[in-house]
Amino acid sequence: MAACYTPVSKGMVVQTRSSRVLETRKIIIELLLTAHTGSCVTDLNTNQCALHKLAAELEVSPPRFQVGEPRYYPPEDDNPFVRRDLSKCILCRRCVGACAEIARKHVLSVAYRGFQSKIVADLDGPLKKEVCKDCGLCIPYCPTGALSKPAPMA
Ligand code: SF4
Repeated sequence: MAACYTPVSKGMVVQTRSSRVLETRKIIIELLLTAHTGSCVTDLNTNQCALHKLAAELEVSPPRFQVGEPRYYPPEDDNPFVRRDLSKCILCRRCVGACAEIARKHVLSVAYRGFQSKIVADLDGPLKKEVCKDCGLCIPYCPTGALSKPAPMA
């Protein structure tokens, strides 16, 4: 049963901390970490990475799995509202939901398939201020630091 889709019903018992649930959760986090590349260890934005915090809380070991095709995207600093580092993205789609359902802007979407899947703005162009403007609402919803506030100008 999918927990996010199954309606609550009378008499239902929901296990959230059973050993089976915790073990499954650890494996899922480990799989997500496999796809979460980038400069997390040295990057100042790491403190925004909820995925790493969760992995530490659950005592997840370093990933044993190898990603099929490592993805690398150069960090993008051209937008005054959002810094994008898609190498850290785990394709959770929270930013797409925040952009469409809360900001009601529909700027972000998922494009391509399989290992090429990617969160894109517009038609997979650069995240320019003409495309993604003045909101930054997606940033707190990103659990990995793939979207963050740009560093203040010196
Ligand atoms: S919220 Fe962050 S990690 Fe999730 S899909 Fe968007 S950019 Fe990727």
